[in-house]
Amino acid sequence: MTRSEELFARAVGLIPGGVDSPVRAFGAVGGTPRFIARGEGAELIDVDGDRSIDLVQSWGALLFGHARPEIVRAATEAAARGTSFGAPTEAEVELAARIVALVPSVEQVRLVSSGTEATMSAVRLARGATGRDLLVTFEGCYHGHADPLLARAGSGLATFGIPGSPGVTAGAARDTLTLPYNDVDRVRDAFATRGDEIAAVIVEPVAANMGVVPPAPGFLAALRDLTTSADALLIFDEVITGFRIGAGGAQARFGVTPDLTTLGKVMGGGFPCAAFGGRRDLMEHLAPVGPVYQAGTLSGNPVAVAAGIAALDLVVSLDPYEELESTAIALTDGLAAAFDANGIAARIPRESSLFSVFFTDDAVVDLAGARAADHDRFARFFHHLLDRGVTLPPSGYELWSLSTAHGAAEVERVLEAAGSFAG
Ligand code: PLP
Repeated sequence: MTRSEELFARAVGLIPGGVDSPVRAFGAVGGTPRFIARGEGAELIDVDGDRSIDLVQSWGALLFGHARPEIVRAATEAAARGTSFGAPTEAEVELAARIVALVPSVEQVRLVSSGTEATMSAVRLARGATGRDLLVTFEGCYHGHADPLLARAGSGLATFGIPGSPGVTAGAARDTLTLPYNDVDRVRDAFATRGDEIAAVIVEPVAANMGVVPPAPGFLAALRDLTTSADALLIFDEVITGFRIGAGGAQARFGVTPDLTTLGKVMGGGFPCAAFGGRRDLMEHLAPVGPVYQAGTLSGNPVAVAAGIAALDLVVSLDPYEELESTAIALTDGLAAAFDANGIAARIPRESSLFSVFFTDDAVVDLAGARAADHDRFARFFHHLLDRGVTLPPSGYELWSLSTAHGAAEVERVLEAAGSFAG
């Protein structure tokens, strides 16, 4: 038995499924998750001493690899000054100033501790500011696990408002309308019939939780037009795209300006730090200025904020996006060639450095397409690579994440492992 197997056996007795977040349990690919001892740049080292190239990077939270010295130093120094005060600090102002400077639509920002909190709070703010209840979401987009955002009333369930998870109330499901991603006609229909009930449309501007599905040309602009015409708000969930697709996020890349933006992952440098922000007149509906309540004991935590400042300073000083995209191009081109050579049908949608692999012949533009891919083959591919020292996200519905620590040598090692995958 490996040390990971021993630990997992112990963990399942103490923690539901042995993990603190479900996909970590390898349910979609089978086998035992590796328990991680430490990370170094592009690599993970597990408790059995096995090293692997990490293409998960804490689910996209790490843009500069594991244990990046500037971030570790900032967090360590901050912790030595005190780990939490529950009172304002100068560092929060500094982090807010950096976010406002970088993200085009954000005039004011509030810090929270997770992406879930950011989206949950942005939705409450949108409902509070518009006085409307209905939220439009898209199938395959993930916005964290708050009730209104888990109400996946897709397919036949929509009619009955059946919630997407036990414990989500039918009321929450009724107030959420879930439509296919990239389908402007369906959004137009929803606005035609219920436009005056819609508080907001929330969207991942590049969907990255059904595998990567870029927005069709004009999709985001159409969402902007439809929401504006109906006095509804447009929320970009940039928890993944923010500071990963570019310093200004997807809104800068596509030139579409949302009313509210949610951020997380990269902006915390690997610590629990996230944010939501947007137009000042909207943000000032929040307590203590306005009546929409939102709060947090650990919001703006000094250790997390120090790491976040260090991460955003690296975003500015390194401007790593061209390099990340070149790495992504080398990797996706190489993978496509390897699959082709072995007669394996695959699609690898990519936007900037964001990509994932679908084993299918057909273009993937929505959740139905993502589901139609061969996920059993993905599971085999996952283990083929893991056995050869490459850690992929343990599901075909997840983004592959690169960091600045991934270079030509890492790409070569991944391609060598993928080259011997026979299907
Ligand atoms: N929004 C998006 C687009 C995400 O990908 C995630 C998490 O993966 C979240 C929100 C929720 O963030 P967290 O897991 O920090 O609560």
